[in-house]
Amino acid sequence: MYQSPGTFPLDLPPLESTISLPYRLTPGKSTGTFLAELRAKRIVATRCTQCGRIEVPAQDTCHCGCDELEFVQLAPTGTLTSFTRTPEFTLGLIRLDGADCDLLHRLVEPPAGAGWAEGQRVAAQWSDNPTGEMTDLVGFRADSAPAPAAPTVPQALTDALAPLDSLAASLTLHYKHARGPYYGRLFDEMQTGGRIMGVRCPSCQSVLLPPRELCDICYVKTGTWVDVADTGVLLAFSIIHLKFVGQFRDPPYVYAEIMLDGASTKVIHMLEGVDVETAPQWLKPGARVKAVWKDTLRGSMNDISHFELIAQKD
Ligand SMILES: [Zn+2]
Ligand SMILES: [Zn+2]
Repeated sequence: MYQSPGTFPLDLPPLESTISLPYRLTPGKSTGTFLAELRAKRIVATRCTQCGRIEVPAQDTCHCGCDELEFVQLAPTGTLTSFTRTPEFTLGLIRLDGADCDLLHRLVEPPAGAGWAEGQRVAAQWSDNPTGEMTDLVGFRADSAPAPAAPTVPQALTDALAPLDSLAASLTLHYKHARGPYYGRLFDEMQTGGRIMGVRCPSCQSVLLPPRELCDICYVKTGTWVDVADTGVLLAFSIIHLKFVGQFRDPPYVYAEIMLDGASTKVIHMLEGVDVETAPQWLKPGARVKAVWKDTLRGSMNDISHFELIAQKD
């Protein structure tokens, strides 16, 4: 890694963050019907009108390619085909009576005095409060009743419930972001010394804040670290009235573009101590501002609580 001049080892931990994307998942007609029927404690499969294959959970298309399938109701009993253990639970492949494929699900209560074994008869165990999701079928427990003597022929389901149209789902990513030598030193200096530092481009002489490896105007490597003051000039501002996801505070508040003394690039931060109702009439770019630091510094731009006005533009 390229180390900028004056970089020293950093002891700040990596930045931890989470991206969370809540969304609605559309299960489609067959899976939607399978899930809806779990509320009624019924296990729904599909029977292919061409080859007769019965698949569970209900499918939209048969393995033979036919998509003309009818819903059938399976018995809540079957035979354990195979199983595997994890530290938290045991998963089994269950051949429900009358089905032509196995259903993967949890095994919840092994036979008394014995462990799970292939060929074990099992029966569905239902949730007390089914809500239309896979966990309505809590799992399968050992069943002492013998297997049916004759092959089971599932009956067509003529009164199927309306399929679930969507399910709540969420994709959540936790990650750690290395600060690197530039942001690392910036935040380290802020935390340890209440000091703001940028880097000077050797070509255009701009002082870049936040500091970065390359000048984005000249495309040359930056060089010297330089101090930037915690005072500066208000370049522009917005008064935020709208509430939106991810805000650090409730509106209204003033979001300001500030050029700190000694820097050539602006930072964006909160401006406090101004009346948001009257500010549009009197607050003008060019006003002088100063950072107000927090009592406890943690190594981030939020070590600056906000900026406040120290002088208005003449
Ligand atoms: Zn088929
Ligand atoms: Zn430059």
